[in-house]
Amino acid sequence: MKKVIYLIVFIAAALLFEFAGTYAYKNYDDGDNSLKVHYIDVWQGDSTFIELPNGKTILIDAGEVEYGDRVVKYIKSLGHSKIDYLFATHPHSDHIGGLKKVVKTFDIGSIYMPDITSNSTLYLDLLKAIETKNKKINIVKAGKTIISEDDIDLKVLAPIEDEYEEVNDYSIVLKLTYKEKKFLFMADAEYESEMDLLDSKYDLSADVLKVGHHGSTSSTNYYFLKAVKPSIGIISVGKNNDYGHPKDTILEKLKKQNVKIYRTDLNGNIVVRTDGRYEEVSVQYGSNS
Ligand SMILES: [Zn+2]
Repeated sequence: MKKVIYLIVFIAAALLFEFAGTYAYKNYDDGDNSLKVHYIDVWQGDSTFIELPNGKTILIDAGEVEYGDRVVKYIKSLGHSKIDYLFATHPHSDHIGGLKKVVKTFDIGSIYMPDITSNSTLYLDLLKAIETKNKKINIVKAGKTIISEDDIDLKVLAPIEDEYEEVNDYSIVLKLTYKEKKFLFMADAEYESEMDLLDSKYDLSADVLKVGHHGSTSSTNYYFLKAVKPSIGIISVGKNNDYGHPKDTILEKLKKQNVKIYRTDLNGNIVVRTDGRYEEVSVQYGSNS
């Protein structure tokens, strides 16, 4: 009997250690010059938090309203009280829902949105929270440079046109470059926006692609993926979501191009850390697929 108990304790300890081991990022060092991109698990939605080497922070979306607390807790747990650059990529609930909580909680620097509004209560509440803080909203479109420093560059690549049929195509698409490493954040940009990007003068190549629209077939068309040529693809998606995201055809397309796929439904929070030359991916659980 004693042996059995020892065995159970040993297995429990091993499991605990394994979990802590994967969650406490490998070689994680707060005192270094690395850039960290946190793809926060907000179920069926999007929220990406970025820690720049200079200590400044970026937040792109904050999931549905019920995930606002989770995003706030996550950012606080990293020791931050200010968000220097805040993006609401487009006014859909799975992107802006949690932002009201974020705006109320943190000291906010600049706020960016695309040129499209909504009549939803969530959207109007967010505007009210921003107004209460006496902050203004910067309406941005393609071509706007947000950060241009020695090693760091953050640019808005889309929306390119002034009008689109789909709200998703108004999504703010961002490209972040740190030395040799490039990250592309697609939000929910679909085919029209991707084709405009392909027609544009922008260099779309990126090492890490935040896959558009939660892995829906509306996005990540063949030519676009060829132009981006990522080695890592991140999909933010909820387990057993009603949309069937991510779609198998998208996963196959990514695999065919040798893209390592990480998914928030299978991996929880995903962190990509880079010193500008190499990158390292840490996941809360599971491994890449
Ligand atoms: Zn979405």
